[in-house]
Amino acid sequence: MSPPGRPKGELDPEHDSAEEKPMSYATQSSTRPPVKVTEVGTRDGFQSEPDFIDTAIKAEIIDAMIAAGVRHIEATSFVSPRAVPQLADAHEMLSRLTRRNEASIAALVPNARGAERALGAGVDEAICFVSASETHNRANLNASIDESLANVAEVAGIVRGKAHLRGAVACAFGCPFEGDVPVDAAMRVVDRYADLGFDALTLGDTTGMATPPTVARLVEAIRGRHPKLPVALHFHNTRGVGLANVMVGLDLGVREYESSIAGLGGCPFAPGATGNICTEDLVYLLEESGFDTGIDLGALIDVARRVESVIGRQLPGQVMKAGPRLRRYALEGARRATG
Ligand code: ZN
Repeated sequence: MSPPGRPKGELDPEHDSAEEKPMSYATQSSTRPPVKVTEVGTRDGFQSEPDFIDTAIKAEIIDAMIAAGVRHIEATSFVSPRAVPQLADAHEMLSRLTRRNEASIAALVPNARGAERALGAGVDEAICFVSASETHNRANLNASIDESLANVAEVAGIVRGKAHLRGAVACAFGCPFEGDVPVDAAMRVVDRYADLGFDALTLGDTTGMATPPTVARLVEAIRGRHPKLPVALHFHNTRGVGLANVMVGLDLGVREYESSIAGLGGCPFAPGATGNICTEDLVYLLEESGFDTGIDLGALIDVARRVESVIGRQLPGQVMKAGPRLRRYALEGARRATG
């Protein structure tokens, strides 16, 4: 694996200057290339919680993450309140944020009605989503990919010029119903987003099927075809390789990742349906690898613990349990001979 800061191409012109200097994982560099971390927990995580989380608590958690230095938040979704009751308070929740001017606030918009509502709530970024798998798209959105893409064109027409437009590709690296998803299938959705003038892409590993080779294949194919379109990677840790996939993305020059606080996500009633990669664990990995996230890890761990207490069960985040690497323990009372 080549060192960070030596991308094979240009994914995000914003970050070019920071990426120019090669550096080694083994030595400290004075330049720390910036990496954008987008928090998705209050959307991707809370939407599948069984109990409604109080609007004020959602806003408090987002404000605390912004205070910790998080600057990109996928806060909620403007789907039908009947379809996703957990996020029925989208507009009100955003209006309660006290620090929203310090961060870019994004929301999912599934259709024209959602787009109007999202713009009415003043979102900075609208996210459309279409699956690369026909079967998953029908199961998830009750529409064919073609129908969804027509819908995306309508949403883009409403949002363009008023907010940043992001196109997400669900099941980009595999589908729980169809298995492998060919690069061409994902590319069909990506091409449409590019034709419609979307500002950025997210490749979603919806059910945690991405592996290092599948990540490399798709990212390189997109870069070959759409070299100017910034790409974010959204991994789930379903099979334990979420952060390994991030390392592959870093090596390919991808400087934008989506993750959820404390590893929120997945349905507590569906065995094996685990959540996104965890934001504190991601920030820890990035900072320890010589990248700059702009996020205060200690403050973020405090937020993760707060989220765990709100949810009321143990969440997957690991750094929130172990603490930062140089956390020191008192020798007194340490257990011995534990192997
Ligand atoms: Zn997700």
